[in-house]
Order: sequence, then C-alpha cells, then structure tokens
Amino acid sequence: MDTDVLIVGAGPTGLMLANQLARRGVRMLIIDRHAGPSLQTRALGVQARTLEIYAQLGIADRAIELGKRGTGANLWAQGRWMARVPLGEIGQSATPYPYILILGQDDNERIMGDKLPDFGISVQWNTELVALAQEPGDVTATLRQADGSQRRIVASWVAGCDGAHSFVRELTGISFPGAPYEHVFYVADTEATGSMVPDQVNIYLWQEGFHLLFPMRGKDHWRIVGILPPNLRNEDVNFEAVVPSLRNEAGASLSFAACTWFSTYRIHHRGAAHFRNRRCFLLGDAAHIHSPVGAQGMNTGLQDAYNLAWKLALVVKGQAEATLLDSYEEERIPIARRLLNTTDRAFRLAVSDSWFAGLFRTKVLARIAAFAMSRKRIQRAAFRVVSQIGIHYRHSSLSRSLDGLPKSAPRGGDRFPWLQLKLRTDGAVEDLFQKCDDTRFNLIAIGQPLPPEGALGFGDMLRTHVIPADLANDKELARAQIPQPSFYLLRPDGHIGLCGVRLEAAAVKRYIAENLHLADRGR
Ligand SMILES: Cc1cc2nc3c(=O)[nH]c(=O)nc-3n(C[C@H](O)[C@H](O)[C@H](O)COP(=O)(O)OP(=O)(O)OC[C@H]3O[C@@H](n4cnc5c(N)ncnc54)[C@H](O)[C@@H]3O)c2cc1C
Repeated sequence: MDTDVLIVGAGPTGLMLANQLARRGVRMLIIDRHAGPSLQTRALGVQARTLEIYAQLGIADRAIELGKRGTGANLWAQGRWMARVPLGEIGQSATPYPYILILGQDDNERIMGDKLPDFGISVQWNTELVALAQEPGDVTATLRQADGSQRRIVASWVAGCDGAHSFVRELTGISFPGAPYEHVFYVADTEATGSMVPDQVNIYLWQEGFHLLFPMRGKDHWRIVGILPPNLRNEDVNFEAVVPSLRNEAGASLSFAACTWFSTYRIHHRGAAHFRNRRCFLLGDAAHIHSPVGAQGMNTGLQDAYNLAWKLALVVKGQAEATLLDSYEEERIPIARRLLNTTDRAFRLAVSDSWFAGLFRTKVLARIAAFAMSRKRIQRAAFRVVSQIGIHYRHSSLSRSLDGLPKSAPRGGDRFPWLQLKLRTDGAVEDLFQKCDDTRFNLIAIGQPLPPEGALGFGDMLRTHVIPADLANDKELARAQIPQPSFYLLRPDGHIGLCGVRLEAAAVKRYIAENLHLADRGR
C-alpha cells in the first residue's frame, strides 16, 4: 500500500482533511491538478463553528488577524435602512467567536496550507487523478503528473475533495441530481464609500433582487455580491454596467474609487445521491453545491472533512471497525439536504423576478426581518443556524441519550455547548473547549466521580474532565441546561456521543461496542 488515504483536491475541503488526518498520524497523499494555491477569493464568510475547529488546529488566531469581524448585518429595502441583525451580541455566550469572519477563501486555503508542513506534509501540485479502480481491499489511482507522465498509486481510501465537477464522483458513478439557476451572480472587489454601515455586512433588497456588501480588510474595501439585473443576464458585462442598478438601491451617495476584480458566474443546486461508494468518499462541493446565500458552502465542506477525519483515522489505525465509516454519509447527507432546501428557498425568495416577489422582498420581508430580529429567541435561533453551531446528529446511529436527562438538556448528537468552568475548585475559570483534545474522545463528569481508570475500555483514546461543585460552575451549567449529576462523552469532533445522568462503566462499554464499533486490538 503506497498510502492510507489519497486526498484528491487541495481546495479548502481537501486541505482541512489533510490537516486533520496528519495531526492524527495518518499516512496520506494530497494532490491537486492546479499548479499552486488558488488566488480567487470566492467564499468569504467563515462561520463560528469553523473558527472553533480552526482553534483546535491552532490557526484561529491567524485567521482572525487576517480577516475582518462582521459583528452585524444591516438590512436595507429600496434604499431605506430597515433592521440590524446583531451577530456579535447574540452569540456571545454560545461561542468564543460570536461573529462571521470576513476572510477570503484564498486566505483560508493559505492558512490551512501553511499548517501542513508542521506535520511533514505538502500538496503535490500539477498532479491530476485520471483513473480509479476499486478492489475489495484497496483502490488503485492513476495520476497524471506535470510532465505528462502517469503513475499509479495504491491507497486504502480515497477522499474526493475535487469540487463541483468531481472526477471521483464521476468515476464512482454517483449521481448529482439538481439544476442550474437561471440567474447570473457577480462579484466585485471595490474601493467604495456610501450609505453602508462600516465594518458590517450590508444587505440591499430591491424590486429585482439583492446586493450584499461585505467589509473587507483595508480602507473602504468592500466585496459586492449580487445578481445581474435581468436585462444584463445574457450580455458580456463589466463592472460599469452594474453600477446604475447598485446606485439605484444603495443610494446615489454610493461611489467607487476602484474595482480590482469583477467576475460573473452561474450557480447550481445539486446534492450527490451518496457520499460514499465502497472505498471512495465525497466531501465539500463534490458532494453538494448550493447558492452562496448564508455563506455556508465552504464551511459545510470543512465540517464534512472534520466529521470524516476522526473516523478514518481510527479505522486506518485499526482502532475501529470499518463500519464506523458508514456514519459519515448517515450524518452528513441530511445536513447537506437541509442546507440545499433552505438555501434554495431563501435564494428563490431573494431573486425571484415576479412582481409579487419583488413587492414581498422590499415591503414585507424586510419588515418581518426587522420584527423577528427584535426578538431575542429568534435572534439566537438564527445565529445557531447561520454560524453552524446548531448542526446536530441526533438521529445518527452514533448518538445515544440515556433515560433520565431532562428534555431541555443537550442530547446525543448535539455539539457540546461552549462552557467556561472551574476545573479545579481553587483554580481559575477555564475554557472547556480548549481543554478538550479533539484527537481523542473526551468524557465530562459533572457532579460525580469518574469510574476507575481503565474501566471504560477506551485505552489511551480518552481524556477525562471532572467538573467540581462550585457556585460559578452551577450557574454556567444551568445556563447551558446541563443537569447535575450528568455525564457527557464527546466524540473527537466535539459532538456528544453518549450522555446520561449516572456515569456507569457498563453503559459506556455497551455504547463502545454497539454504536462506535471500536476494535479491541486498538485499545
Ligand atoms: C465565484 C464564486 C463565489 C463563491 N462565493 C461563495 C461564498 O460567498 N460563500 C460560500 O460559502 N461559498 C462560495 N462559493 C463556493 C465555495 O467557493 C465552495 O463551496 C468551495 O470552494 C468548496 O471547496 P472544495 O474544497 O470542496 O472545492 P474546490 O474549492 O472547488 O476545490 C477542488 C479542488 O480539486 C482540484 N481538482 C479537481 N479535479 C481534480 C482531479 N481530477 N485531480 C486533482 N485535483 C483535482 C481542483 O483543482 C481544486 O483545487 C463561491 C464559489 C464561486 C465559484
């Protein structure tokens, strides 16, 4: 076997998977047919959940330093300011990163790519996958190299992170149903001044569509994303052609000193029928593509990689049966389908050409949004969805909640909430996320002792955390609706595997055998 995992594609998804596998000690090869990293910004919004994952990888500070925090989004309808969605304030107790970080895809790729040499890995550029042959025990991949020569490598598993036109998807015969939208998007990198609320996202709704203005690093630097007005849809347009429509609804005060990049593109909404075919997996845009409404695309690919990496690592190292890998598709397909449906509905509403939709967008939608955003509960729910901290796997075969926990408590499959607790009675308050080791399982015992060492059957795959009784801890646990006593067994990706009231070794062992498929020899 030449390698354990062949990662095809060094976009954000492939780079995240490579980092996550490398830090877990998995042998891998990451290839890309391009000559080097992409210079196109494309995706812009880094969500809170992604930053939490970046923090575990040790790259969150660098991302935050390079990006710009969007702490709020302002909604405008036909030139009038209607509402502000206060991202920062809403998410403050839910995540260490209560904002959307405006950081271009190229910077995200650079930061993740720069991390790889720490693990002795580098991307093999100019290397294209041209054929795959799957056998019961391995996959033979044919790669075309820069000089045109071909070489064959044998891998245990192949991860197709090769984008919307995925060759891995095509070679494995997985269908990609969906359709293109008739609308044409444009992106423009501008130096602009106008009615925009500085340092925040500005959304301009108008009779014929919308424009999003993102604050970027640098003075008066705004990224504009919009749809072309219908009369320009079939033309060869440049930035000057869209300026009149922009001024029309963002106000005559909008003026541009420069436009350094302008591009148009059509988008599709499609989801792969399967995320796995025997030894090959699909992740990121290879598995799902949707409208950029909500800045979810890149973030979803990164989470696909985070979900698959710990499972692949355990299987490759012989610490889990291959059955564990079935849960990748089981958990990630529903997330992708829900995302496709919601972004599709939101997108249709945002771009429909009908007179009624235009009226709805500018007269009704903005008012509903203004009203909804004055309600704290709705704000919090919206933040959880957009930031992706609300993604859960409650229906997964890996998720189990034992009897006795109140309904309001976090359940099996949820992302374990962000808590700041005293881990020693005489110690300072600490960030539990920072204490958890995401290359292992983490067991959190609240208001009760741990079973004797070695009794749980995880070997060295487990970190334990005992939360002592303390007034400040009581308050923080109550805020997260975590009862005392209780216990939470977290998977490496921070989602709850097993939870319950009394921590008994027999229940944990049963969970390991029945749900996690951990192998005896690995422990
Ligand atoms: C103009 C534009 C604007 C966008 N704006 C947003 C946005 O605002 N928000 C958002 O969330 N998303 C946005 N997206 C979508 C976002 O860019 C994607 O979701 C993201 O790039 C997906 O990452 P990925 O790694 O899965 O795939 P990709 O970034 O497409 O990477 C795939 C990689 O695989 C390589 N590859 C392909 N085939 C092979 C092969 N046979 N052998 C070797 N290598 C191969 C390619 O060279 C490429 O580097 C935008 C997309 C576009 C085009």
